[in-house]
Amino acid sequence: MTTREPDLGRATGAARALLSRYGVTRPDHIDVEAICWGERLLVTHGPIAGADAWLLANSRVGTVRVREDIPYEGQRRFAIAHELGHWTLHRGVTQLHLDRPEQLRDYRKDPIEVEANAFAAEFLMPQALFESRLPPGPPDLARLVDVAREFAVGPTAATLRLVRMTEHPVMLVVHDGGKTFWYCRSTNCNLPPIKPGRPVPNAIAAGPLEDVFCRVAERREWYARSTKVSALREQSLRFPDSPTITLLSPVEA
Ligand SMILES: [Zn+2]
Repeated sequence: MTTREPDLGRATGAARALLSRYGVTRPDHIDVEAICWGERLLVTHGPIAGADAWLLANSRVGTVRVREDIPYEGQRRFAIAHELGHWTLHRGVTQLHLDRPEQLRDYRKDPIEVEANAFAAEFLMPQALFESRLPPGPPDLARLVDVAREFAVGPTAATLRLVRMTEHPVMLVVHDGGKTFWYCRSTNCNLPPIKPGRPVPNAIAAGPLEDVFCRVAERREWYARSTKVSALREQSLRFPDSPTITLLSPVEA
């Protein structure tokens, strides 16, 4: 693992330059495999054990292999865009990048992985186009699901993109089996962290599958030791075979 700080400006700048070179002005122009091909990167699909994708490259050409049984198209596109990020930003660093699902969510903050993910986020959801689809006001998960569909990305990737861009105080909590898996807070969110392994309110599990479920929760449902009496707006989306996402925001008094 590299120990330097990630250069997010370089990563997003490289993604924008590539989109501009291919004349992308609409979400449906972002044909990730065709752009890879134009960049001398062949994308193949097949079985892979223990990883979602890998990139094998020399200085001139590269091959991406994507696990064929990734369940969602958005996840598959994100994995390919992540490898395109390595190809664009990290050529020569290593001949083989092997990416498990942890790498595709900034695992342990390895700068190489953080940069490839920042590249993929900007490449698949260019900031100006993405912002133009979002109404003003606090984040609305149902609207984000529609935006994710338009950009052919997963709802989790779209929600994380929004949390990293918005000025509204909001926290994304990703959980599975009633326990927190990981979380991300927006810049202006001062809710305390919800660390991995912490329980989430049981009420979320009663919500429908693949439909946004909104509720107002008492703060102590999320923060058992909290002495503050306040409420949190909860918007959740459950999937049959992936972790649940919940967007939490403070309810204004
Ligand atoms: Zn990677």
